Amino acid sequence: MKAEIIAVGTELLLGQIVDTNSQWIAERLAELGVDLYYKTTVGDNENRLESVLRQSIERSDLVITTGGLGPTQDDITRQVVADALDLELIKNQEALKEIRSYFQEMDREMTDNNVQQAFLPQGSQIVINNNGTAPGFLVDTGETIVISVPGVPLEMKSMIIDFLIPYLKDNKLEDQVIQSRVIKTCGIGESSLETKIDDILREQTNPTIAPLAGQGGVKIRLTAKADSLEEAQAMIATKEEELKERIGEYIYGYDDDRLEDVIADLLWEKDLTIATAESCTGGLIGDRLTSVAGSSAYFERGVISYSNQAKKDLLDVKESTLEEYGAVSAKTAQEMALGIKRLADVDIGLATTGIAGPGGGTEEKPVGLVYLALAYGDQVIVKENKFNGNRRRVKYLTSQTLLNLLRKTIL
Ligand code: ATP
Repeated sequence: MKAEIIAVGTELLLGQIVDTNSQWIAERLAELGVDLYYKTTVGDNENRLESVLRQSIERSDLVITTGGLGPTQDDITRQVVADALDLELIKNQEALKEIRSYFQEMDREMTDNNVQQAFLPQGSQIVINNNGTAPGFLVDTGETIVISVPGVPLEMKSMIIDFLIPYLKDNKLEDQVIQSRVIKTCGIGESSLETKIDDILREQTNPTIAPLAGQGGVKIRLTAKADSLEEAQAMIATKEEELKERIGEYIYGYDDDRLEDVIADLLWEKDLTIATAESCTGGLIGDRLTSVAGSSAYFERGVISYSNQAKKDLLDVKESTLEEYGAVSAKTAQEMALGIKRLADVDIGLATTGIAGPGGGTEEKPVGLVYLALAYGDQVIVKENKFNGNRRRVKYLTSQTLLNLLRKTIL
């Protein structure tokens, strides 16, 4: 089944709202194994909407429109869908009853405009709106199904879930499912990663394998199409094993996993406590570690120490170290990590010091130069990094790199 989505609304074209409806519908279609070929956004303009609709009805088996079903002048979808299908708009008694009872329940006055919402293309099935006034409708010509749902996300979602999906399952589907899994990596760039799995990428058919570079790591999306969920999952698992053999050391999680969640599990599992001494990250690492519910079990404290005085007072960094090596140095990072570990009496001390920019860089110590330190047992690991990007990005990459070092060290 070939599908397409048409999002209707001038505010979408003006960039005032983001078309999250199409994205959400696209995910549902993928889960059903329906191939989505086009997504179109069109303003509240009758001619343009009609021309898009006529083309969609011609080339697709399923056309989903979202938006423009409201009671006002600029809500044109009902009329234009009828025109594009060469159908009359006629008053649908069931729709009228639904709208009336909605207003009664809300104890609100119904206007003539709302009566307009009960006019649907001839022969269409009403799609009940349990969350608003505008009913949706579905027209099945035998060749093409056109379904129109409101733009309000809550109303749109319940119509797709409660009406369209059961309708397709009962009537139309080829019973194929598409299943996806995202593998999340950290500590390797996109091109190095692709080089390591080059042959696997070139041979891919089903599942498909798509590397996606993001902030702080590369994700790999595996997507399989099969007759059943179990079969799709098994196909993904086989491919995943193959990838793990090559790039397993960089994989920290899957799907919605965040690095901090994975670390929280490790700290819990090994019964370890942690404290942070942050200079250039301004508390970001503490924030990420404590964004997990129950983190007070392992997170003891965090010190944000920007001045030399703070580094001496709160972390026992030596005056001589600061004078000889400077605040942004491997030696200072090392003393910060050891200092926080000892003073907080925890198993692991983390420290960052660097130049997040845009100012403050010198030839010897440029913007983006960051030292990370991790004190654990008798060991202190210190790493020098050079990150590119603006202040926000340098801070984020610093946190991501240190958290990944923490993950690997605990493992
Ligand atoms: P209703 O009559 O129930 O309000 P409608 O079909 O007239 O529905 P619109 O007027 O097109 O809906 O949009 C109503 C609101 O829904 C918009 O202001 C916006 O907040 C949200 N919305 C519309 N289209 C989208 C979309 N494609 N993605 C996300 N939100 C949307």
